[in-house]
Amino acid sequence: MRFRGIVKIELSRSLGQDDLKVLEEAIGEVSQSLVKGFRDPEDGGRILNWRSEDKFLVIEIESRRLRIDEAAMRVKNSLEESLGSRRRIGIRDIELEKALVEIDGEIRISTKLPFVKSIDASSERTTIHLDTLGEKDLKKPILLRLLRLLSEKELKARWGGKTEHWQLIKESRIKFATPLTKEDPNKVLEEAGLVKRFSIGQWLYTPLATYLMNMVREVFIKEVVVPLGFTEAIFPKIYPLEVGLKTGHLRGTINSMVFASLPKTYNIEEFEELTDYMYVVNEAPPEEVAKYLRYPDYFLCYAQCEPFYWFFGGELVDDSSIPVKWFDRSGPSFRWESGGIYGLERVIEFHRVEVVWLGKPEQVVQIRNELLKAYEKFMDEVLDLEWREAWVTPWYYEQSGAVEKVEEFDIDRPGTIDFELWLPYRGSREDRKSWLEVGNISIHGTKFTEPFRIRHNKGVTLWTGCSGFGSQRWLVAFLAQRGFDPEKWPPVLREYLSRNPPPEPVAMVTYPKTRTGRDELDRLIKFLRK
Ligand code: ATP
Ligand code: ZN
Ligand code: MG
Repeated sequence: MRFRGIVKIELSRSLGQDDLKVLEEAIGEVSQSLVKGFRDPEDGGRILNWRSEDKFLVIEIESRRLRIDEAAMRVKNSLEESLGSRRRIGIRDIELEKALVEIDGEIRISTKLPFVKSIDASSERTTIHLDTLGEKDLKKPILLRLLRLLSEKELKARWGGKTEHWQLIKESRIKFATPLTKEDPNKVLEEAGLVKRFSIGQWLYTPLATYLMNMVREVFIKEVVVPLGFTEAIFPKIYPLEVGLKTGHLRGTINSMVFASLPKTYNIEEFEELTDYMYVVNEAPPEEVAKYLRYPDYFLCYAQCEPFYWFFGGELVDDSSIPVKWFDRSGPSFRWESGGIYGLERVIEFHRVEVVWLGKPEQVVQIRNELLKAYEKFMDEVLDLEWREAWVTPWYYEQSGAVEKVEEFDIDRPGTIDFELWLPYRGSREDRKSWLEVGNISIHGTKFTEPFRIRHNKGVTLWTGCSGFGSQRWLVAFLAQRGFDPEKWPPVLREYLSRNPPPEPVAMVTYPKTRTGRDELDRLIKFLRK
């Protein structure tokens, strides 16, 4: 990214011959101020040319890492000091003219955005020309955000559309030289009637399916979450848009969010035309329903931890109140997964145990490390599965744009670790598609404490972390590796089974739908009742 622009300074009086020497010195100081703080002066700014004309000083500058707005203010502050102290010349006004931002590669940006005048784009380079900016504009957060947006777009373009970078950290030993099963549990669960498709990407979980999902989830809570001192809270499941603006989800993942609208009115009579139509025609046309609804003010639970940051937002915490360690399992999350929807693994409505924490950076890192160890034990010993974990860097964390090698990188910093379990039904371990992400743990740094203004009473930096355990995915992956026969399950789950008898399956004249489905169900019941 490169910046260029002309800083036009209006002085309190015209410059005379006797000011020239001081002026030249002053320009030298401006040059120095533009590289201050940069180890490599090339990264800072420099003066391309300058001239003085009556009361005006016109200085053309360019810079690399130094944002153009900041460069212009540095010019002003430096001149104010040198000319003010030596010649008693004040600065009346400052304008940044013909400012432009040059980005390698082609990015797309709308000219409707504030301050964007025009754009020249080719496949090698994009040049964004900005409107003339006054001193007030230069200090506006809106300009700062525009420039940040441009640098994010540049970074994203350099990542070539990839959203994350995946690096293996650890993997379990091979436990099933010959897989115990190659059955696809999604299919078995549906065929045997334990779940029934409600709508696209949504299932009804009969009591027996619910039992199985709860089994894995309860063991996780008992073995991992509670021993580490997390306590349960209940978070709301529909969020005002403003929350998504602060978390960044509305910007980053709007294509996979589900939105909700309130009715325009509470007065049922105002719906009469529509309700009568539905009565007579027995149809509910969405485009007609939409006419009676407000624009979407909400989105449905997406990451599940958003309300946690909201709760502490604007509050002052002290040492005795941190670290905060909560979890929520109170309801579903919703994601539009478009063509990716499959079985119980990738659904629109799913259930998750969301673990969240807040504290000083070292506390947040320590909690993540404890949780990581507990997860590893859970996967390796408690469920006794084949697993692996990877460091995934979403592009926006990769400030340098350069990806480090696994031996060099430090995992005690903001970023995400994904947990993946092998799905033998999909194929060999070597194929990436045979692994399912079942959960993850993140250290966010100040990603949420900053926008939500979560502060410490003594000004210590606060970080957050979260971890999501997707109930459907853990169940599917467990069954994919160990099958439905409890003889082949680890002891903890067999104990669960003997302590909590499973509920009756659903079987009636027309359900499960097929002969094979009914046979499957008989087989499952025999297993579970053994
Ligand atoms: P993927 O890359 O598989 O889409 P993700 O990176 O979108 O996963 P996260 O945003 O990290 O997933 O969500 C946390 C957890 O929530 C996942 O590890 C998974 O267990 C669960 N999850 C996410 N999306 C779905 C879905 N569509 N269906 C079922 N579970 C899901
Ligand atoms: Zn989260
Ligand atoms: Mg996803």
